[in-house]
Amino acid sequence: MSMKTKQTTAIHVVITLLASAGLVGIISLLSINFKNQTEEHVENNLLILDSRIETIIRNLEIFSSYAFSRDVDTAMVNEMIARAWNGTAAERDAIRTELYGLMLPVYQQMERYHFRQLHFHFPDTTSFLRMHAPELFGDYLGDIRSTVRTVNQTQTAITAFEEGRIYNGYRFVYPLFWNGQHCGSVEVSFAMSSFLSRLRDLKNCDYYFGVRKDIVESTVFESQQSNYRESTFSTVYLEDGGLSQDHPMSQAFNYKSKALEQLLAEGRDGGIVSELAGKPVLVLVNHIKNLAANPVGVIISVDNDPAYEVMRGGFFALLIVSTFGYVGLVLALYLLHTERKRLHIMSSTDSLTGLCNRRTISAVLEHELQRYERYKTPLSVMIIDIDDFKQVNDTYGHEEGDKVLKKLATIMMSTLRSTDTIGRWGGEEFITILQNTPFEAAMIAANKLRESVEKNQVSEKKTITISVGVSTYTGKETMDTLVGRADTAMYQAKRSGKNRVLGYSGENPLPNTN
Ligand code: GH3
Ligand code: MG
Ligand code: MG
Repeated sequence: MSMKTKQTTAIHVVITLLASAGLVGIISLLSINFKNQTEEHVENNLLILDSRIETIIRNLEIFSSYAFSRDVDTAMVNEMIARAWNGTAAERDAIRTELYGLMLPVYQQMERYHFRQLHFHFPDTTSFLRMHAPELFGDYLGDIRSTVRTVNQTQTAITAFEEGRIYNGYRFVYPLFWNGQHCGSVEVSFAMSSFLSRLRDLKNCDYYFGVRKDIVESTVFESQQSNYRESTFSTVYLEDGGLSQDHPMSQAFNYKSKALEQLLAEGRDGGIVSELAGKPVLVLVNHIKNLAANPVGVIISVDNDPAYEVMRGGFFALLIVSTFGYVGLVLALYLLHTERKRLHIMSSTDSLTGLCNRRTISAVLEHELQRYERYKTPLSVMIIDIDDFKQVNDTYGHEEGDKVLKKLATIMMSTLRSTDTIGRWGGEEFITILQNTPFEAAMIAANKLRESVEKNQVSEKKTITISVGVSTYTGKETMDTLVGRADTAMYQAKRSGKNRVLGYSGENPLPNTN
């Protein structure tokens, strides 16, 4: 492989690599952009879900405050609690029964509005009366119910999600006073089913609700553990058995998703885009935190995601358009380049032999004469003419003549040096520019060529010979003179019998025979 071919191959490799890198770059950029868009989309939807949850909690809070102040926070109830707190065990039992009877119609009314707990406690955070489980009382709640403990300590109302001995839920805990004295607290809270139906009112889709398994196991009464069942979405969470959760999209909810399981295990909010029958489905994880801001529960929403579908369509369209656009551009540039190269070769070479044409040879020679001015390196030219070429054409036809011209070009290229420039001067006349070659060396090269042509079977039909004229530049003559002298020498060679080399050795006007 020649130096030039090696270089061209290297350039092609570099260009191909750069073009590929460009394509990879475009695809990467678009993909990163789409990934960021998706993250933002999930983030926005997560914010919307969060604000819906917040809105419902605030509304339930107002609703429970209303119920508390209207039906529970009465002089009669507060007086009874204060009396029980200061009474004996027997007195407490009697008051409990009395309070239960008094509160029962209220509690039944509240249940119709999906309240679940109405739970009275003493200032020492022991349970006094659970309207939802009147047989369970007297237990200390301080270590598991920080809301009740905190309300008893601070004597101000609190709202928070908390797991209890029986139920979980958003707790609204209020302090109770009698005669200006703190006498206990009461909790009013809702069934989680009510919370989820409010959520469905705002946006109808699948919701999953779970409470951390470890919290349930450590907090809930043994007898009440059956209120929970294994969740369908995580090993870390249990589902509230009191909820009849309807999940038509459960197939889309890829429970085994690593990303999802990670979010749940780490208690982080987030989301993934899953798929159902080729359609995107958005799964959002919103953790519920307790008073200490620890994630103890989770709400998962699963919904069709048409916005993502539009985004994804846009991404693929952009990807296809950009890829085709880019590949098209690169291809167009490549075609333009090869076309220019082809035109250049066409205008600078001879179409039959592939050698330099007369125009190119003249330019090279002009350049070499200028180089001589500076470096004075010897420079010779040869004019080569096929002997009796007309005969070839006349006897064997033009095709055979063309074959001979092509074969001769090949022989010249293989015989002469790669630094020599070879061209077709016209018809069956060739010219070579021999760089760095003084007269004697040029004569040797010309004879070598002559012998090579004679020995090679240029034509199968007839022995082909050439006559060569050589001239060497003296630094004085013009290009035309230099070539003219070689031409004269060549004609002299013809006249003296053909198949020979004659030359002008610089100053000597008479041709030298060799
Ligand atoms: P001499 O030994 O004196 O050079 O005799 P010659 O027959 O070669 O005479 P001359 O140089 O006058 O003949 C040139 C011939 O070369 C004329 C033409 O038919 C032929 N020729 C020129 N160009 C081409 C070509 O492209 N293809 C073919 N086949 N023949 C060509
Ligand atoms: Mg001729
Ligand atoms: Mg000839």
